[in-house]
This record gives sequence, structure tokens and C-alpha cells, in this order.
Amino acid sequence: MTDHDTLQKFLFDGTDIRGEISSLVSSYQAIIAQQKYPESVAALFGEFLVAASLLSATLKYPGIITIQATGAGPLKTIMAECTQGDKLRGIVRGDLDAAANAQNLQGFLGSATLAITIEPEGGERYQGIVPLDADHLSECLEHYFDQSEQLPTQIKLCANQQVASGVLIQQMPSSEDHEKIDADWQHISALLDTLKTEEQLNLPHSEQLYRLFHEDGVRLFEPQHLNFFCSCSRQRTERALVSLGAPEVLDIVEEQGSVLITCEFCDEQYQFNEQQVKEMFRQDKPTLH
Ligand SMILES: [Zn+2]
Repeated sequence: MTDHDTLQKFLFDGTDIRGEISSLVSSYQAIIAQQKYPESVAALFGEFLVAASLLSATLKYPGIITIQATGAGPLKTIMAECTQGDKLRGIVRGDLDAAANAQNLQGFLGSATLAITIEPEGGERYQGIVPLDADHLSECLEHYFDQSEQLPTQIKLCANQQVASGVLIQQMPSSEDHEKIDADWQHISALLDTLKTEEQLNLPHSEQLYRLFHEDGVRLFEPQHLNFFCSCSRQRTERALVSLGAPEVLDIVEEQGSVLITCEFCDEQYQFNEQQVKEMFRQDKPTLH
């Protein structure tokens, strides 16, 4: 695998189908290093992370895309976020060990929903919610695209302990000959169906696509790099504390001498002493932006 931590768009000459292919290695490993994940949970988390990178490339404007599953099984939350198309972070909450032997999404999350949230920079937030009722995340995301954009979309995701890899193809909106568009879609999508997990995990992007589509005029664009990056900061942590309210935060200071907040995404610690907490809640303090 040579396409470490990159996302690449691709097109097919003479068709209205676009695609993206993505592979996470160091970014994925850095994220799963935050907790001790059973192999199966890490792999599922990897699928969420790589899916967030693929979905970020379907956005028309820069922004943040979040994929969040909320369930009532051993796992309660799996969240993956891709900011500006290149910064990834995520989190899994729940009983990781109890989820270790799960075989499908229901086993991991029980009865669950999947929320896809898009926050364009300076634009309005959009959220689509679909039930998490298929065996695999890819099927639920296809269902989401079907519902939200009415665009046929096909997604293949996979991950092991080292690599998370994914590919997405989507029909572009078009007013042209529908018979040809449908025929092109059937053809390209049947070929993508034949992509094997071991090929996704081990072959460079160009080779994966060449094996599938070498007769279909596939054009692969320049890679875009993806990183693990957490957007937490002392200022954002302070804002979160302020929103808790003075009584609660001052209680903690009284009990523990200071407030220590650990970021769930990156383990960064933010400590505030008594004086800093009092300063935070001073009425005449200018508001933070
Ligand atoms: Zn953080």
C-alpha cells in the first residue's frame, strides 16, 4: 500500500459517474491509539473514518462532515469527522470489550440511527438521519444518498488494524440520455462489486482502479493528503466550561483544587486553576469568539 493517508477523485471519460478513493494509515493508527480497541471495533471505526473522508469530497463547499451512529447496543456512539476535507478525528463510546464479538452493525450498536451532518463554512447546517438497519455501514450510507440526493451511489469500505480503505462512485445529476446513463451505471457498478477486500487493503489506488476499469477510460486525479487533527483548544474548552455554569464548575474547583478536562478525541489535557475559573465567570468579561 503506497497511497498512505490520501484521497483521490476519479472520473470516467464519456460518462456521468464520478468517484473517490481513500486510504488511511498513520491517521487511522493515531486515532485508534487513543483507546485499547478490540480488532473488530477498530475495523468498524476505520470504516467510519474512511467514509467521512469520502463523504467530505462529495461536498460542494469546504466544511465539516460528521458521521455519527447512536445506538443502544454494547457501543453507544461511533463518530467520525472530516474537516476541510483533510483533517480527521473520531471517537467510540461504549463497552468496547462487550462489542468485540459482534458480527454486524446490530451486534455492535443494537437498534441505532446514523446521522450525517454537513456544516459548510459560513453556510447552513444540514443533517440527514437514516436507520442503521443494514449489516454494513456502506449500505446505510448508500441509503442516505438515495434518500437525500436521489443519486445512485455505491460504496465499499474495509479496514484491518493497519489500514482503512474505501471507494465511492456516484452518478452525477444530468439531463442527458437516461438510457445511456443507466447502462453506464450498471456497467461501472457491476465492476466495482468485484473489488476484493484484500485488494482494497493492499493495492495502490491506481492499481485498484486499473484492475477494475482499465477499459473504461478512468482518470485519477492528484492525491489530497489526510491527517489526524483535533480541533480542540484551551479556548473551546473554556467555552464548554462556561456553558456548564458557574455553580457546577466552582464545585469541582472546591473539591479538587482545579478543573482538569481531557479531550476525548486526542487525550490533550486542559487544566484551569481557581483563579482562572473565577476569571472565566466574571460578569464583565468580554465574550469569546
Ligand atoms: Zn482534542
